[in-house]
Amino acid sequence: MPELLRAAFAAPMTPDQPPLLQDAAVVIEDGEILAVGSYGRLRALHSGPVRDLGDVTLAPATFNSHVHLEMTHLLGRTVAGQGFVPWVTSLVAQPLYELDPASIRGALLRMEQRGVAFLADISTRNAAAVGGILASSGLGFASFAEVIGVETPADPDALLPRVGEVEGSGRGVMSVAGHALYSTSGERLRAAKDVCRRRGLPFSLHLAEHADEDEILLTGRNAFLDLLKARGYITGYTAPKQRPVPLAHQLGLLDEDTLLVHCVTVSDEDIRCIAASKASVCLCPRSNEYIGVGQAPALKLLKAGVNVCLGTDGLCSNTDLDPYGEVAWLLAHNSELDLVQALALITTNPARCFSRGVPLAGRLGCLAPGRLARFSVVPQAVLDVCPHR
Ligand SMILES: [Zn+2]
Repeated sequence: MPELLRAAFAAPMTPDQPPLLQDAAVVIEDGEILAVGSYGRLRALHSGPVRDLGDVTLAPATFNSHVHLEMTHLLGRTVAGQGFVPWVTSLVAQPLYELDPASIRGALLRMEQRGVAFLADISTRNAAAVGGILASSGLGFASFAEVIGVETPADPDALLPRVGEVEGSGRGVMSVAGHALYSTSGERLRAAKDVCRRRGLPFSLHLAEHADEDEILLTGRNAFLDLLKARGYITGYTAPKQRPVPLAHQLGLLDEDTLLVHCVTVSDEDIRCIAASKASVCLCPRSNEYIGVGQAPALKLLKAGVNVCLGTDGLCSNTDLDPYGEVAWLLAHNSELDLVQALALITTNPARCFSRGVPLAGRLGCLAPGRLARFSVVPQAVLDVCPHR
């Protein structure tokens, strides 16, 4: 029997509905949405029990488009606000890749309780294990194995972990991500992107995160590069003498299945290049603030028509994994942005980005007939920044 959910407000995130429905109802049955509209109209059309959620703003379940579950155990163990080199110095002094499955499962449960339905995870050393944990959660996912280094793989397909639980879950995929243009050779990145392209999978890359990245690529002289060399992460580096976005474009890494993470140091010309490529961008404003690298030009990216998503990054550079924290940050720092525009960055936009490679993502992202009955409630911390009543 159908059930009616009633809420003071709902943000359906579809063009055929008002941005915010007042005294809203969503009719659900067997885990799917049957109808969305005003409570008065839908109550007359549908019998069945009513669950009145009260004075809340109901929204689609959310996407966290960039997280490092592998580093969940590092919460509070890195220095904040001093720039990239002090942060990464404190990070690499930690037991980086000592996976803690119990803390990951706890983090996933907290995300699900806050209305997250999908996440994109990056793991450097533990992708298969994290993929297995995600497969046993209730979330949709893209579990990326991150490639790093200079070795050109003899068999590029070996970059993609095969994880039986993921293949059997029907809720997610394993895929391949590049770490960054300075830490991963162009050939290795091209091989990784090629694996994704042949298999119709999403690809992810940290890009233009901080000024050190620009300097490493342009000059090859930089304190962060010296640190990476001293730690053995990089050997024999030759600067390509190009900025991040033009280099990624030249390597053929930009297309509509690529998610570019951070994009803090992008120029207007870079933004035009990203928009023309149809690549999506994932902003991580609280992580950028935590590390102290500056902020991406969010409004410029949106005005250029870029498909912008939001991610929390890992708990090594954030305090929680709830993408509503990124929404609250963006709204507090961009008075031109309204609530529904900000909600798109954690609902419809990531659904568009991931749905080609992960079918389940296409069943999330908005409140409309046929979509999954997965919801979030806009937290008071967001409404405090951006009230709509
Ligand atoms: Zn990251």
